[in-house]
Amino acid sequence: MTGAARPQGHTAADPGDGTRSVLVIGGGLAGFSTARQLRALGHTGVIRIVDPEGLPYDRPPLSKAYLLGHTDRAGLLLADADWATAHDVGILTGTVVALRPDAGQADLADGTVLQADVLVLATGGTARRLPIPGGDLDTVLELRTRADADRLRAVLRPGLRLAVIGAGLIGAETASAARELGADVVLIDPVDPPLVPAVGPELARRLHDMHADRGLEVITGVPTSIERHGAGHTIGLDDGRTIGADAVLVGVGITANTALAEAAGLETEAGVIVDERQRTSHPRVYAVGDAARIRDSDGTLRRRAEHWESAMNTGHTAAAAIAGVDLPVHGASWFWSDRHGVHVEGVGSMTGPGSTVIREIDGQPAIAFRVDDDGYLTGCAAIDGGLAVRAARRIIDRRIRVDPAQLADPTVNLKKLAR
Ligand SMILES: Cc1cc2nc3c(=O)[nH]c(=O)nc-3n(C[C@H](O)[C@H](O)[C@H](O)COP(=O)(O)OP(=O)(O)OC[C@H]3O[C@@H](n4cnc5c(N)ncnc54)[C@H](O)[C@@H]3O)c2cc1C
Repeated sequence: MTGAARPQGHTAADPGDGTRSVLVIGGGLAGFSTARQLRALGHTGVIRIVDPEGLPYDRPPLSKAYLLGHTDRAGLLLADADWATAHDVGILTGTVVALRPDAGQADLADGTVLQADVLVLATGGTARRLPIPGGDLDTVLELRTRADADRLRAVLRPGLRLAVIGAGLIGAETASAARELGADVVLIDPVDPPLVPAVGPELARRLHDMHADRGLEVITGVPTSIERHGAGHTIGLDDGRTIGADAVLVGVGITANTALAEAAGLETEAGVIVDERQRTSHPRVYAVGDAARIRDSDGTLRRRAEHWESAMNTGHTAAAAIAGVDLPVHGASWFWSDRHGVHVEGVGSMTGPGSTVIREIDGQPAIAFRVDDDGYLTGCAAIDGGLAVRAARRIIDRRIRVDPAQLADPTVNLKKLAR
């Protein structure tokens, strides 16, 4: 963690001067959304996005449609060259290696110095590696970038024995897609079932059991080593078991890319610290998306959301702050995930004081609600229940008191409770 005192009275970066130049560092969803929204708000100043990967593309399909071959590289793009021309947004291919916020400068790896009135850090995250012997082998796969997905696609084939370490959202999606492509998948996670904090225990159990139902081998254990031998790998577990695999994919979360911010003296703590306007501790610099971590006005540090909608929303907030217009109001945090032909959605928080209420459909837990001790809904998750999650989001955002018996009753229309 590094600390820099927040300068008083943020005058430099919030005057709402539409001619200021903006440099967005990182062209993922959050950076792209910042640029797109700035133009939508009528910002007339120079806007540039710099990213080593060139044109902005979307990541959720990497573990779904793209991995399965249902969409191609063009289908991943958030914006193409025509969009950039039409909206007068410069898209540069390059890696920023240093920031000088006071001077409004960013140095690229090739020696170019970019200058702007406002800098937006949208550097996302890096797939976490396992801190065990062999965890850093270059044959161990991960899935964060399009290049990662291409590499995985190149090895996936019917009969390949693929070990997936980590059965969270991305690990489970990847395991499901690999199975669909005919791979023999062994899925390893220390927790049984995983994802309880995201969807509650009942849905987590049902989701995890689907893996075995679809023919995956599911192992609960803590990997302690990965060895490479010939064309294959052996994973050692803490109880002495060993698992052989042709290929290994690790999906154990990400770390926020904060190195540029730290080196520039911005405040960071497992993310670049920002306020409710996405402003960092330097008045010229904003941070958005997976890289940013919001500190509320009461001092509470939020968890980084690491979800698609949150990346977009933080970009919209930063754009509004830079443009000097009212900040958009976003509802409770929302995510989705797809695996084994089912669609999962969640909103708000499924943890914290209170109790979980389950609505069953066809004898199976289908919707989980988290209700706090005062009778307010704080979170909801559903399997193939997007409409329910949408209604729950309204109930959460409007702070409507709920009756647990009505939540549990499948004959009660949730939309009515949201009115
Ligand atoms: C495989 C996968 C599946 C997902 N599925 C879902 C889903 O189903 N539902 C959901 O809600 N969310 C999903 N997500 C999460 C969602 O995609 C992310 O939250 C979102 O992409 C974050 O956007 P971002 O712009 O903050 O970061 P990123 O998308 O990581 O973009 C950051 C960009 O910054 C660039 N960059 C980094 N360092 C520098 C530098 N020094 N100089 C210049 N550029 C730099 C990188 O090249 C990258 O392009 C998924 C993520 C992945 C990886």
